Amino acid sequence: MQNLQAFGLKDSQLVKTFSYINGSWHSSESQIAVTNPVNGEEVVKVANAGVAETELAVKSAKGALKKWSAKSANERAGLLRNWFNLMMQHQDDLGRILTIEQGKPLAEAKGEIAYGAAFIEWFAEEGKRVYGDTIPAPSGDKRIIVIKQPVGVVASITPWNFPNAMIARKAAAALAAGCTFVVRPATQTPLSALAMAELAERAGIPAGVFNVVVGDDARGMGEVLTQHPDVAKFTFTGSTAVGKSLISQCATSVKKVSMELGGNAPFIVFNDADIDAAVQGALVSKYRNAGQTCVCTNRIFVQNGVLEQFTEKFTAAVKALKIGNGLTEGVAIGPMITNTAVNDVEKLVADSIAAGAKLVLGGKRDQAGDCFYQPTILTNVTNNMPIASNEIFGPVSPIIAFDNEEDVIAMANCTEYGLAAYFYSRDIGRIWRVAEGLEYGMVGINEGIISNAAAPFGGVKQSGNGREGSKYGLDDYLEIKYLCMGGLDK
Ligand code: NAP
Repeated sequence: MQNLQAFGLKDSQLVKTFSYINGSWHSSESQIAVTNPVNGEEVVKVANAGVAETELAVKSAKGALKKWSAKSANERAGLLRNWFNLMMQHQDDLGRILTIEQGKPLAEAKGEIAYGAAFIEWFAEEGKRVYGDTIPAPSGDKRIIVIKQPVGVVASITPWNFPNAMIARKAAAALAAGCTFVVRPATQTPLSALAMAELAERAGIPAGVFNVVVGDDARGMGEVLTQHPDVAKFTFTGSTAVGKSLISQCATSVKKVSMELGGNAPFIVFNDADIDAAVQGALVSKYRNAGQTCVCTNRIFVQNGVLEQFTEKFTAAVKALKIGNGLTEGVAIGPMITNTAVNDVEKLVADSIAAGAKLVLGGKRDQAGDCFYQPTILTNVTNNMPIASNEIFGPVSPIIAFDNEEDVIAMANCTEYGLAAYFYSRDIGRIWRVAEGLEYGMVGINEGIISNAAAPFGGVKQSGNGREGSKYGLDDYLEIKYLCMGGLDK
């Protein structure tokens, strides 16, 4: 805790080190060190919960379900709005906590807090619009009515790359729908999740409705969350490999499942694009969070007519990105999450160069520290190199040249992933052809940042199922119940 005071927090009570279960803070016998990826130094220790605490959290969520689901949508909206207001009031502190445990620049971290909070605000309102239906019945003595009800206890596991927003996106919809919620955040980033629990309590959200269990036994805790009979729905954000095994765990009790998994986003620049806009779009969609987001541009396809112009302008823009400690003003690229993550990126770059790619910029670790990798650009890349088929999850842009529209759509779709795609063109016919031809859940057209609370976030193919945000996002937390009223002719 002492280390944290040096980071300029206004409200040190937001730093919690125990799991939050049934409205109280639970210590554990063992502890986990939370480290700052800038220098690997320990920031604080948190209690290491396990299977028993996870079971307790599910029990508490089950215990709180009846009362929470019986509240009116208006009452729930009021409490969610309190939570949203508190998050925005403490945006600076929450951003600092996030930067300290995760590494992204403070401005981005504060942006993540506002983004996460926006889902809470949005679903608070949307929860008031859970409408049912009446359906004309096939005979006059009957009436068909459809109502929607909360699915029940929702369990979730979230990753380290958005330690606040990946929880907020799920919890907001779940709570608004009348479900209660248990989250196990990533081991590397528990503090943002626990700070959310502290604010949920201050907001007046009742005990048991929002629970956070922190622990490094991912497998054991995951088994409880995916297999416990009292869990009605499981929602996961993380890698496709882990997501697949969690889906199969959920199969044993046929849980409702939604998955936000990996991506391999193509970013296509056509000859008719506004090149300056495309450069800006590529910059933000690639280098945000040091390239560690599921919707990050993974492959940049540039049509031959503008290849030289785009590469030159893009290289100049990337060169200007400042690398360093995310708490330092003006830094655009923070550390990667771990040394291992840097090793993986180093290998992908080395393998690409060995296979014929040309290094235009970066291509090595930075002197700022062990977890820093320089913003990198490779040209002469082909779509069959490992860097094009793997999720890079680092600040590296592989540029692939192409000749025509049909070829680039085929190359863009040649992946098992289908989360986000981007393209730049000013031709209206092409815009529709390409938008419809891309096998992705989300497509940015002349736009590099596409996610917001009002829009449906999610992927197709092996990038997952279900949607977060928007009116569609609430459906994942609701069951449809059909009521048949008969005997009405008497
Ligand atoms: P990961 O390895 O799948 O980890 C994600 C979460 O799953 C962490 O909490 C992790 O716990 C936990 N976990 C790992 N193995 C588990 C197991 N056997 N049983 C239960 N839980 C387990 O993913 P990551 O590398 O940390 O995160 C990056 C991935 O997430 C990328 O593929 C990225 O594209 C994806 N992502 C997708 C979205 C989206 O919305 N589609 C958003 C963000 C990220 P520990 O922390 O203890 O390992």
